[in-house]
Amino acid sequence: MLAEGYHVIGMDNLITGDLRNIEHLFPSEHFEFHNHDVSKFVHVSGELKYILHFASPASPIDYLKIPIQTLKVGSLGTHNLLGLAMAKKARILVASTSEVYGDPTVHPQTEDYWGNVNPVGPRGVYDEAKRFQEAMTMAYHTYHGLETRIVRIFNTYGPRMRLNDGRVLPAFMGQALRGEDLTVFGDGSQTRSFCYVADLVEGIYRLLLSDCVDPVNIGNPGEITIGQFAEEIIKLTGTDQKVIYKPLPTDDPKQRQPNISKAQAVLGWEPKVERSEGLKITWDYFKSLPKERLYEEAHHRAFNG
Ligand code: UDP
Repeated sequence: MLAEGYHVIGMDNLITGDLRNIEHLFPSEHFEFHNHDVSKFVHVSGELKYILHFASPASPIDYLKIPIQTLKVGSLGTHNLLGLAMAKKARILVASTSEVYGDPTVHPQTEDYWGNVNPVGPRGVYDEAKRFQEAMTMAYHTYHGLETRIVRIFNTYGPRMRLNDGRVLPAFMGQALRGEDLTVFGDGSQTRSFCYVADLVEGIYRLLLSDCVDPVNIGNPGEITIGQFAEEIIKLTGTDQKVIYKPLPTDDPKQRQPNISKAQAVLGWEPKVERSEGLKITWDYFKSLPKERLYEEAHHRAFNG
């Protein structure tokens, strides 16, 4: 948005985020940062043209640590930002997720699939908050005529991921850097489809500017088993460590692949970055980090509310 000439306000309570990821933006007079939790009333002075709501933990390990905050930000946080959008006559785009499909019985997942979610399982706090978020956003559109957009984001990766957030890519790359074995959960036959972050951003930007109110999947259809993924990371990093197997977490989806026909038709979008290329860029980033960051605890700030 800065490159497109907008003035940008970033808002985050840093419960899972990291200021080091946006340090390079601070010199810009067109960027300001507000340390705030959007689950509480949000005040912004002046006009707003667009609101992009991405606030939420997004790693299964984080949902287990901060389940209530995860529920609150998807529900109360979304409500606050829809209200802000109404007050500012702004268009709002909300980040939903492939998790609305749960452990899917339809493959690949199309937007008209309603999903298979366990509301009371460990992922329920994220999945149901995001499903509520979609319902609330659609209600503001139909009842108030608010301009709304909903993106369903599939697994995404790239530089600046938190090294110790528990997600599979930073987990494997962190293990390779520390000289530890790679931990595959279950037998590694479950699948995911990984999208490089720059492709995701382009898709989201096109959706924001489009007139498409219904949810749109954005992701890379290149599907791979987690076992194969571990082998790819071993090859890329040149680590001499091996794969070890750990128990599969409860309700871990067995397969996931986006059907992106809608994004192709409506947004003229499809991913461009091959996994081999994106993984190399990401590996170069993790390799460049100071060594002490490899051992940094997942730095959840104490939640002050
Ligand atoms: N996974 C794994 N080892 C790890 C972390 C994750 O095998 O150290 C698996 C996890 O069980 C899941 C997949 O990798 O099947 C993707 O996990 P992630 O947490 O990145 O995202 P999810 O798609 O499950 O939300």
